[in-house]
Amino acid sequence: MGNWTIEEIKNFLIKNGIRPSFYRLKIYQYLLNERTHPSADEIFLYLKKEIPTISRATIYNTLNLFLNKRLVQLINLERDEARYDATLSWHAHFKCLNCNKVFDFHIESLKLKGVEGFQILEKQLNLAGYCAQCQKK
Ligand SMILES: [Zn+2]
Ligand SMILES: [Zn+2]
Repeated sequence: MGNWTIEEIKNFLIKNGIRPSFYRLKIYQYLLNERTHPSADEIFLYLKKEIPTISRATIYNTLNLFLNKRLVQLINLERDEARYDATLSWHAHFKCLNCNKVFDFHIESLKLKGVEGFQILEKQLNLAGYCAQCQKK
């Protein structure tokens, strides 16, 4: 899938009952087009370069709104490290312990023994290690 245009994001937000303010558009555009699983702080530092008036509070409020409307998911790869992901399908995350990049992996099948009878509301599969690139070094 190619990058989303501002117009497409605007329509998507409206469809999900969110007023498409300038900040909201820019934040969602960043999440959709970068797909780097950024923390709120990384989003702030990135957008501040382009939009000096943006505040951390705006970022947090907007991310919470997106979370409530289920337009992003929160992933916890480490303690105290909340990252945001606009990819909502069921996928696994691999965090490289050397370069700190987070990779997405499609899940073909996963069997959990004894989970019958439980109601699952959240699904996360987090892996850590060294990515192919870092192993070469
Ligand atoms: Zn790596
Ligand atoms: Zn992801």
